Amino acid sequence: MKLPQVVAIDGPSASGKGTLSRRLAKELGYYYVDSGAMYRTLAWQCLRKGVPVPAEPKLLNRDTEKPILAELRRWKTELREVEGALWLHVDGYFPKSEIRTNDVEKTVPIIAQIGKVRDWMVAKQRECSTLGALVMEGRDIGTEVFPLAPVKFFLDASPAARAARLEGRGNVADTKRDEYDEKRKQGALIPAIDAIRVDNTGQSPDETFAVLMMHVRTRLKLN
Ligand code: C5P
Repeated sequence: MKLPQVVAIDGPSASGKGTLSRRLAKELGYYYVDSGAMYRTLAWQCLRKGVPVPAEPKLLNRDTEKPILAELRRWKTELREVEGALWLHVDGYFPKSEIRTNDVEKTVPIIAQIGKVRDWMVAKQRECSTLGALVMEGRDIGTEVFPLAPVKFFLDASPAARAARLEGRGNVADTKRDEYDEKRKQGALIPAIDAIRVDNTGQSPDETFAVLMMHVRTRLKLN
C-alpha cells in the first residue's frame, strides 16, 4: 500500500504547530496545509451569510445543525495554492484576515463538533494529498485524516506556557476552544497512538524545529 506523503502535526492552541508546520513544509519542499483555516472559513461563511450557529455545543441538534449543513452544501469552494500553501477559497476568495477575528474564534469550535461538517472537512483535507506531499497541521490529522501518515507529531506545552503565548497574541477565548476540541465525540484532540509527542515548554522554536527535523529525517529516510 502506498503511504500518503504527509507529515501530520496535531496539538492544542498555542502549542507551536503553526510556526513549526510552515517551517517544516518549507524545509521539505512540501505544501503547507492549515486544516484549522478550513473550519474557520466555514465559521466565517456562516457569520457573513447570517446562518445561525448555536452559542454552545450542547445546543446542537438536528434542527440547529440544518442551516449550517445547508450552507456546506451550497458554498462554492476550491483548493488553491498560494506561496507553497494550499488554502480553501470560497467563491474564488481566501478570507485570510477575516478568519482570525474573535467572532470566528467563538463560532469555529461549535461548528467543528458537527459530524457531517467534520466528514466534509476530512474529505477536503484528504483531497490536498492528491496535489502533492504535505505538512498538515490540525487536531485530528494523525488520528482521522491521515491515519497512515508516515510521520505524526503531537505538540504540546505546559498550560502556563500556552497561556502566556495566547496572552501575547491578545487571545482569551482559547481555553474554552481546547476544552470543546478535547471533549467532542468525533475527531477529538488526542494524540494518535503512533504520534511522536513533543513538549516544547521552555524551548526556542529553533530547538523544537531541530527535534522535529531529526525525527522526520529518520522516518522518511532522508540524509
Ligand atoms: O488550528 P486553529 O486554531 O486555527 O483551529 C481552529 C478550530 O478549528 C479549532 O479550535 C477546532 O475547533 C477546529 N479544528 C478541528 N480540527 C482540525 C483543525 C481545527 O476541529 N483538524
